[in-house]
Amino acid sequence: MLKIYNTLTRKVEDFKPLNPPVVNMYTCGPTVYDYQHIGHMRRYVGDDILVRTLDFNNFKVKQVMNITDVGHLTSDSDTGEDKMEKGARKFGMSVWDIAKKFEKQFFDSARALNIRKPDILMHATDYIKEQIVFIQTLEKKGFTYKIDDGVYFDASKFPDYGILTGQRSEELKKGARVEFVKGKRNVTDFALWKFSPKGEKRQMEWESPFGLGFPGWHIECSTMAIKGLDTETLDIHTGGIDHIAIHHTNEIAQSEGATGRQFVKYWVHHNFLHVDGAKMSKSIGNIFTVEEVVRRGFDPLALRYLYLQTHYRQEMNFTWDALEGAQIAYKRLIDEVSKFKNPKIGCAEFEGKFLDAINDDLNMAKALSVVWDLIKSDYPDSAKAESILKMNQVLGLDLEKAKEKKKKIKIVVPQEVQILIEERNKLRKQGSYTQADHIRNKIKKLGFNIKDTKKGVIVEKI
Ligand SMILES: [Zn+2]
Repeated sequence: MLKIYNTLTRKVEDFKPLNPPVVNMYTCGPTVYDYQHIGHMRRYVGDDILVRTLDFNNFKVKQVMNITDVGHLTSDSDTGEDKMEKGARKFGMSVWDIAKKFEKQFFDSARALNIRKPDILMHATDYIKEQIVFIQTLEKKGFTYKIDDGVYFDASKFPDYGILTGQRSEELKKGARVEFVKGKRNVTDFALWKFSPKGEKRQMEWESPFGLGFPGWHIECSTMAIKGLDTETLDIHTGGIDHIAIHHTNEIAQSEGATGRQFVKYWVHHNFLHVDGAKMSKSIGNIFTVEEVVRRGFDPLALRYLYLQTHYRQEMNFTWDALEGAQIAYKRLIDEVSKFKNPKIGCAEFEGKFLDAINDDLNMAKALSVVWDLIKSDYPDSAKAESILKMNQVLGLDLEKAKEKKKKIKIVVPQEVQILIEERNKLRKQGSYTQADHIRNKIKKLGFNIKDTKKGVIVEKI
C-alpha cells in the first residue's frame, strides 16, 4: 500500500484515490519569465517519481500541468509587477516570445532529466474565458468585491481559510506582511482579476465583464485543474512548500467557495534546494541551470541520481562536489548494469524491498540502496538484470541503455586536479620523476588515482 505525506492532515496516510485505479493529479507548473534552475527542476523530478510510483502500483494517472504565462505578480500580496511583463523587459523581447523561450528551456531541462511529460498541458492564456466564468461564479455566491485595483476574493467569507497551513485567518492576519492594496478588506484577501493600470498599455490584457485587465495567478490553477481533470475534487495536487501559505491556500478558498466540495484529497509539497548552504540568488551568483550542469561535463541523470538521495520533504543542499560524487556513483551503477545479460525471472525478495521503499512516502534513498544491495547479492546476473529493469521504471536512470551510456559518462575531474596532472606531465617529460611522484601523491590526497597508459593519463576516483 502506497503511503504519502499529506500537507492537509500533516500525516503520512494510506493513499486511496476517489475512483481507483484512476488518479487525478494536478501540478503547479513553471512561470515562464526566466530560466528554470536546478531548484525548480528538483521539484519536477520529485513529481515525476510520484507519477512513476503510482504507475508502478498499477494506478492510472492523469496528470495536468499548467504553464503560467500571465498574472503571476512579483509579490504575493497582489502588489508589484506581473513577472511576465518584467521578464519581457529584462530580455528585450515581447511577453509572448518570453513565454515561448522559457517554456522550451523548461521542457529541454525536463527531457534531460527523464521527467515524463504531463498528459495534459494547459497555458493560462488559453483559458482566460473559463477563468472569467469561474470569477463570475464566485461573484454570484457573494465571495467577491470590486475595488479600483481589481476584483478580490473576500477571505473572511470562507470559514476554512488557512486550513492548509493549520493557521486560521486571525493568526494569518497577525503574521502577514503589511503591504496593503488600497481598499482591500482583509490582509488575506487576494486578487481574482486585476485591472490594467490607467494610462498604461499592457502587452497582455483582456476585456471582461469586470473591466479591462488580466487574471490573478491563483485563479488559473483552480480553473484549469477542475477543467483539465474534469472533476471538482482532485486526488493529488503538488507544488513547492513555498506555495502552501498563499497560492494553495487561495486555490482551496476559491475552488471550494465555487463548488462547495473538497478541492483536493492529498496535497504533496516538495522542499527547497539550496546551493552551498545558501539560498539561490542572483547577487551570490549561485543560480544554476541543467544546461550549466551539462556544460560542466556532467550527465544530467547524475543530477537526477543526486536528487534521489535526499527525501523530497527535506531541504537539499547542492554542491558541485556532491554532484561529482553522484556522477561517480551513477557511472558505477551504469558500469555494473551494463555487464548483465539476458534478463530472466527477477528476484522477488529485492523487488519487494524496493516496493516497500518507494511506497514509504517515496523513500528513494532507500530504494537506491536496495538496488546496490541487489547488485552485490549472490543472485544470478539474469535475475539482477530483470529486477533492475523493473526498478528503473521508477528510477528513470536510463539503466536499460547501460551499454550505450557506459562509454559516454566520464568522471568529472575537479580543476584543481586537472592542473596538477598537467604539471606532472610536464615534469615527466623533463625527466623529473621524483617531483612527478610528489604530485601524484598530492592528487591522491584529493581522492584520485592516476594511471599512465600509452594513450595518456587515466584518472580514477579512489
Ligand atoms: Zn498553481
